[in-house]
Amino acid sequence: MANEEYKELMKKYEEIYILGSISGVLTWDTETTMPRNAIQHRSKQFRYISEQTHKLSTNEQFGLLLNKLSDNDDLNKIEKRNVELLKRRYDTASKIPIDLVGEMSAQSKKTNESWKTAKSKQNFSIVMNDLKKLIELNIDYSTKLADIRGINDPYSARISERDFGFSVDQITKYFNEAKSFLIPFIQQTLDKQRDLDFEFRNRPVPKTVQVKVVEEIAKSFKYDFNRETGLGRIGEVEHPLTIGCGPQDVRITVKYGDFIQVMNATAHELGHGLHGIHKNQEYVYQPINSFGFPSLGECTSRYTENKIGNSREFQSYFFPIMQKLTNGIFDDLDFESYFRGFTRVKPHTSRMEADELTYGLHIIIRFELERDLFAGKISVEELPSLWNEKYKEYLGVNVPNDSLGIMQDLHWYNVYWAYFQGYFLGDLMGSQLHHHMNSTNPEWKTNMMEGDLSTVLNYNIENVYSKGALYDPLDLVKHVTGESLQTKYFVDYLKEKYTF
Ligand SMILES: [Zn+2]
Repeated sequence: MANEEYKELMKKYEEIYILGSISGVLTWDTETTMPRNAIQHRSKQFRYISEQTHKLSTNEQFGLLLNKLSDNDDLNKIEKRNVELLKRRYDTASKIPIDLVGEMSAQSKKTNESWKTAKSKQNFSIVMNDLKKLIELNIDYSTKLADIRGINDPYSARISERDFGFSVDQITKYFNEAKSFLIPFIQQTLDKQRDLDFEFRNRPVPKTVQVKVVEEIAKSFKYDFNRETGLGRIGEVEHPLTIGCGPQDVRITVKYGDFIQVMNATAHELGHGLHGIHKNQEYVYQPINSFGFPSLGECTSRYTENKIGNSREFQSYFFPIMQKLTNGIFDDLDFESYFRGFTRVKPHTSRMEADELTYGLHIIIRFELERDLFAGKISVEELPSLWNEKYKEYLGVNVPNDSLGIMQDLHWYNVYWAYFQGYFLGDLMGSQLHHHMNSTNPEWKTNMMEGDLSTVLNYNIENVYSKGALYDPLDLVKHVTGESLQTKYFVDYLKEKYTF
């Protein structure tokens, strides 16, 4: 009986999955080739799909099946996990009052519009009242969520909604440890690189050449974007992102321009792309393959960006290839100067322009402010000045105006509350996995220096990509490395990389 009911549940989920993938194809088209004037009809298409998805995933029969199947011992490990993932989402979606969800969604759209105006006019007060309302609604939602999940802290409940298993106290502990290492270490690195010349970073590279370099990086990473043989595509957009269009179709995008940034961003999106493509095909159309966690998603992308793409090993292989492709633009450089420039550390007001070392502090600042807002310790009025103080204290930079400060990211002016922490937790997770990869497959270094990335890629495919959402993020790290998540591996990794 359980078997029949399980099959029925998966059949229903497959419909939800298909709708999601249609939305993916539409997103790809919207971002890459859609004529701008088509946006109104496109919005209707998106709305229709999300309404259908909502109906399918909250209907009574779906809930009945889930209730019958949870705690059913006839199911195997995979089936149990699929039921668990769906039930978590169903319980939230069906128990939070629909009016509150509607109000939040409307207020997010409204706030997002005022944010655009406020940002363009460099005037935070334009968006302040909308932001206040949005936060109140989010606190209300999170309090209800905490009740449903039996967690005594609303912000922890909200974090756990996206990144199951993490609590505020635990993240605070990880981030404090990382912060006390990063702040002095960044200063030491800045002192060491003071006399180095990074002029080459500003040399213009024609777009046609950039395209070739991007394609060459993708080939090295074994991301097949050939239309006849591959599962990927490379598109051009304003803001790089990866778009899943189906189990055999995960596409990355690039914004051409600043050459060094293009190479880093490509390696980042390749991580998301490979993660999507290398899900276990046995679990196709199942929640295990389609559910994700922000921390795990960023763990894969920041791993490919920093532990592969801008590693000394990969760069020593790729440097002569890049020199050749760029037709003499960088021929005067020796590898050591290039590598120091490529991995240059430069504190900045913008998260999007942050280097590997300073990135974590941008995230820690956002997490600390968000946590204190949810706890009622600080007010929306105080946000801009607190933001600026933290940037000065942690990164030593002066924020010239609120558009380049508190208003730089769309997250808080939209639906992405309790989201930022995943970006840095992913870095911590990736560092621990990398340490484990290094101790179990030490040959990865010499292989990578010869352009063979298969050791490191296979490790990730086997231990992370193919596992999908079988484990919650912290459990995955423990399962693979045998240890609970620790900041020590992140610290050790950076100390080794930035010694010069
Ligand atoms: Zn990413």
